Amino acid sequence: MRLARSPERRGRSRFARFRRRRGPAGLAAAAALGLGLTLLARPISEGLEALSGRLPIPVPEAAAMRLERRADAPVRLALLPPAAPPQPLAAPAPIALPPRIIAAQAGDTAASLLARAGVGGDEAQAAIRQLGAVWDPKTLQTGQRAAIFLQGDRLMSLRFALAPGREVVVARDDKGGFVAEQQDRPTHAVPLVGSGTIASSLSQAAADAEIPAGIVGEVIAAFSYDVDFQREIHPDDRFTVLYQRIDDEFGEPAGFGHALYAELVLSGKALALYRFAPADGDPGFFTADGTSVKKALLRTPIDGARITSGFGMRLHPILGYSRMHRGVDFGAPSGTRVYAAGDGTITEIGRAGGYGNYIEITHNKQYATAYAHLSGFARGLHEGSHVHQGDVIGYVGMTGLATGPHLHYEVHFKGEQINPLSVKMAATARLEGNDLAAFRAARAAADREIAEWRRAGRIARVE
Ligand SMILES: [Zn+2]
Repeated sequence: MRLARSPERRGRSRFARFRRRRGPAGLAAAAALGLGLTLLARPISEGLEALSGRLPIPVPEAAAMRLERRADAPVRLALLPPAAPPQPLAAPAPIALPPRIIAAQAGDTAASLLARAGVGGDEAQAAIRQLGAVWDPKTLQTGQRAAIFLQGDRLMSLRFALAPGREVVVARDDKGGFVAEQQDRPTHAVPLVGSGTIASSLSQAAADAEIPAGIVGEVIAAFSYDVDFQREIHPDDRFTVLYQRIDDEFGEPAGFGHALYAELVLSGKALALYRFAPADGDPGFFTADGTSVKKALLRTPIDGARITSGFGMRLHPILGYSRMHRGVDFGAPSGTRVYAAGDGTITEIGRAGGYGNYIEITHNKQYATAYAHLSGFARGLHEGSHVHQGDVIGYVGMTGLATGPHLHYEVHFKGEQINPLSVKMAATARLEGNDLAAFRAARAAADREIAEWRRAGRIARVE
């Protein structure tokens, strides 16, 4: 197996970042003022070089005006680089950003962090007071980063990264006070591809290809409607996953987005899925013709379990005689989460003889599912509760007649137990109209990306 990685596409994504940058005029103006001043303190060549730029900060006309009016300030307007004309908000220009980046240390408060950055006590207090209106500074985590802009020892702005795409900003307003708000952080997605052959399991092979666990989980969930990972994966089966790494404004990886495309080649047969978000619906995975992979019921309502007993006649381990086993047993440690196999209503929940702690969900007129031997139920569930596919409903245990922790899972069709593994459900949705057109465009983009990686020889080839 070989890992294919990261063609950086900074140049292409930069414009997208610029367009995305939106801030209220006050904050933007305040930031631009601070930046303009910082620029002045540096050699022009450096300022110009920086202007061509790494960081997109809008310079609204109002900000430039304000800069000129501050005649009393120690600003040499003549030194303003000519390449920085006032720009309307709609088309912000990039300007250099030399913030001081400070990471919170163990025991840090917002105040101690600012003190370390050289911000005076009164200013720090004023900034933190505003900050408190939009974010609780007590939730500051060790390692959380702050970008601090100082002009001399005057605090101009302060930004805390909250999440890869979110930050809280405190900046000077036009009266010299501070304003605070949460806003989107400029991030951009970098496409990555992981591919290889599957020696033992897809999760192992994908991990070997350095595909992050969250993406792998997404891919496995997408295929789990159609693929029985216990039985249908064979050595030399192959996979390819196109996914997104989310980089922050500094080009530092800040997290991961989603799998956009996933392909499994099982016994020579390819199954390809594309992620897409319909206009009025949840994002999900679709086959090339726009059919949702989501089926009415999950085949395996539990993670990482193995089938320890199938459907059919067997010698009962406790009763000691042969009888029909009307479900499938999944062996898993006590406490493993059990998911609702489909949308529906809980029609039974509680103790049920040999079944122990038991849940029954009615999905529609024809189908119901049952879950037995649970150690406990998810909080708040009762008869009549509506659940969605994938909701945690309980936890694996060994209540009732059970020799060890496992989930006993049944699918009922018109009141009769049937083999859950033989259930072939009809697809629930097919894209149409505008959604279908948008999906085809997304599919084509993913296909182009994959083709590019293949041409560059960055996707593992099978000998
Ligand atoms: Zn069983």
